Amino acid sequence: NQAGRRIRKGEDVINLSIGDPDLSTPPEIVDVAVDSLRRGRTHYAHTLGDPELQEALARTYSRELGRTIAPDQVAVTAGAQNALFAALLCLIDQGDEVIVPEPTYVTYEAVIGTTGATQVPVSLRPENHFHLDPAELAAAVTPKTRAIVINTPHNPTGAVMTRAVLEEVAKIAQAHDLWVVVDEVYSSLTYEGDHFFIASLPGMAERCVIVSSLSKSYAMTGWRLGWVVGPPDLIGHLDNLLGCMLYGSPPFVQDAAIHALENATQRVSEMREIYRRRRDFVCGRLAAMPLIAYHRPEGGMFAMIDVRATGMSGQDFALALLRDEGLALLPGEGFGPSAAGHVRLSLVSKDADLAAGCDRLQRFLEGLSKGRGAAGPNAA
Ligand code: PMP
Repeated sequence: NQAGRRIRKGEDVINLSIGDPDLSTPPEIVDVAVDSLRRGRTHYAHTLGDPELQEALARTYSRELGRTIAPDQVAVTAGAQNALFAALLCLIDQGDEVIVPEPTYVTYEAVIGTTGATQVPVSLRPENHFHLDPAELAAAVTPKTRAIVINTPHNPTGAVMTRAVLEEVAKIAQAHDLWVVVDEVYSSLTYEGDHFFIASLPGMAERCVIVSSLSKSYAMTGWRLGWVVGPPDLIGHLDNLLGCMLYGSPPFVQDAAIHALENATQRVSEMREIYRRRRDFVCGRLAAMPLIAYHRPEGGMFAMIDVRATGMSGQDFALALLRDEGLALLPGEGFGPSAAGHVRLSLVSKDADLAAGCDRLQRFLEGLSKGRGAAGPNAA
């Protein structure tokens, strides 16, 4: 993309468009992997994950869900992306419909397309701060619907689904016998209370499939360690599929994962506090800027900024901002039509870059607002 090209050329560009934590993997987790490599943990591993990691994940989810998750309900994958792809390949077929709230994380449509199914979008509206209206979800169900894919906390909007909404989703899924695939890669990054797991609701054990990973919670994106938690039958199918597509995650990465889950949870809260502080800083700055509104992120790593009052699309706004101020944000349109007229700012950059990025955004908006005179959209 344009921002990347300009940065490689050494130009003064601040990139607040990325989704990869700037924080480093905690050193003690790295040490475990290095040790493990030195100990020769370099051979093939079990297709569904080493039993010790399946057990560690089963313990973690038993605690989180308040019901027993057995190791045979866990499959270890190469990140949540691989988990999502593998799970959906097992669950849905040609001709099925899969309901996905929109805007969506960008890979969903292609993953669903690969299965031959159709993605059916349900709009998350900016006037509702991108929260799902369960009535709209219910209205999208047809006899062909096979699954609902949700993501909470949400990329790109930062919206968190409340327990009440998740209960409605669960009811709809049960009434129509649907799978609920929930992408919870940001579950540890909630800023107003704890994450609520839809899989913990009654009647969801047999139809809820969790996909998640260490990527965001432990700043381990490049390690490619994720998982599926679901009914044992699904895990059986995943055993066959992952045997063809992955053949097991690297054992030294799995050793590091066990350490992360069992001994380094304090790190997760430390990172959450860093992102929370950044969120509060950025929201404070955005609140003082002309011509925009913003959606205060309840979770995740991103803030959506509503630029519709400038009269520009998110795309035009992002291009002009990059051209004039050297600040890269992502246009909302890429995530779906409901995010049109928005740009996504990511919180995974150093404080100094966030502050300088906010300075640039403010200067850009003040320039636009002066150009409009006193009767700009905010005056209306
Ligand atoms: N789901 C969402 C919503 C994401 O934002 C991402 C990463 N950007 C993924 C899945 C994939 O994460 P992983 O690194 O675990 O494959």
